[in-house]
Amino acid sequence: MLPFEDTIAAITTPLGEGGVGIIRISGENSFEVAEKIFRTARPKRWLEDSHRLHYGHVLDIYTGKVLDEVLLAVMKAPHTYTRENVVEINCHGGMVPLREVLKSVLAAGARLADPGEFTKRAFINGRIDLTQAESVIDIIRSKTDVALKVALSQLEGGLSSRISLLQDSILGILAQLEASIDFPEDDVDIESNRVMQKKALEIVKKLGMLIDAAAKGKIYREGIRTVITGRPNVGKSSLLNALLGRERAIVTSIPGTTRDVIEETINIRGIPLVLADTAGLRKTADLVEKIGVEKTREFLSGADLILFVVDAYEGITTEDREILQTLQREKTILIVNKTDLAEKTGVVREENMPSVEISALKGEGIDLLEDKIEEIAGGGIATPESIIISNVRHEEVLIRARGHMNDFCYSLEENIPPDLLSIDIRNSWEALGEITGTTVTENLLDRIFSDFCIGK
Ligand code: GDP
Repeated sequence: MLPFEDTIAAITTPLGEGGVGIIRISGENSFEVAEKIFRTARPKRWLEDSHRLHYGHVLDIYTGKVLDEVLLAVMKAPHTYTRENVVEINCHGGMVPLREVLKSVLAAGARLADPGEFTKRAFINGRIDLTQAESVIDIIRSKTDVALKVALSQLEGGLSSRISLLQDSILGILAQLEASIDFPEDDVDIESNRVMQKKALEIVKKLGMLIDAAAKGKIYREGIRTVITGRPNVGKSSLLNALLGRERAIVTSIPGTTRDVIEETINIRGIPLVLADTAGLRKTADLVEKIGVEKTREFLSGADLILFVVDAYEGITTEDREILQTLQREKTILIVNKTDLAEKTGVVREENMPSVEISALKGEGIDLLEDKIEEIAGGGIATPESIIISNVRHEEVLIRARGHMNDFCYSLEENIPPDLLSIDIRNSWEALGEITGTTVTENLLDRIFSDFCIGK
């Protein structure tokens, strides 16, 4: 791919009002563009002073009118985000001044950046590899501190280095195969086949470990969709409050995918639990009452986890049974609440369903519930050091690469000629290259970067 010729610009800070807003310009002509619209007390000097902030004003390129008082950062290539010449204009926050300044920048010769284009340039100009570029999106979107750590470890290149090691091992096998293609007069070397098979199986195993990690990583990325349900007054909202009341519980509160429902993400030991209709729970204490039977059913079927609350004192009532029948049992944890009122514990239970006894009111047993949730999420995997793949694309590539390796092992036993065998090996190697970006196609790149927001 060719280096980029044009100079791009975009607002890099989020939409809305803020103390400052930043416009980033990147490309060959960044400085020329800035020069046309920036006025400072020390003309010219500012261009020589790289990686510093310069005070001045941005002017409307046509009228010469002052648009904003700004701090302008000049960063000479290659030590910049994109490895190109970069100028960042720190404006006063607020969309109107930012848009005006951006307009002037565009009129001065820059083009509006596509979504993710700055990061794409950083990748294509070789500053970061593809996993690192993608981790930038994950960092922006991470819901909990653990999710953030996962993304940061990718940004540091943790995943890439593992993938490169695997690719090296694959090349090792390929070299051995090619030797037998080059010297076909040699007898088929049974010992050599055995060695290759052993190496291939080792690679299959390592890929399997990464694929498992990917499934867990998905949980950290997307969260566990959770519904708290049960008949009125069993303590659903009290349970919610007990969970929310824990340290660093609330992370985000966003409108749900279902129109009338608010989703809230709470952080349980680093695992994001995406709770449906927490607001509804608080007010009416009844999901059904608020959004109707149909929607509730839709909701429950989309959930990964259902917390079904019953009253320890009353036991499982007929009404409870009716609700229970509508739930997917394999996703459900029975929450036996109000143990402080019950004379005996351990009595209320349900066959083949994990249960936890709690007193939401007294905050008892919440730890046990958190243990259970952690267990479901795969427990204790998210040390900061561990590389977890939280990216669906990576997971898909790993599965593909493993498939090719398995085909290879199979073909090896079938005594298929080495030149055909080498196809599987090459395919596996190439698939892995899609993760780090060494064998990636233009199309795939466009798909990945279109996921970004403009300005990143
Ligand atoms: P919801 O309708 O299922 O959301 O139930 P609420 O959380 O509003 O609780 C109903 C009533 O039960 C309230 O008066 C709570 O104080 C009470 N309650 C909830 N949890 C407990 C508990 O663990 N022990 C006791 N004794 N009362 C509880």
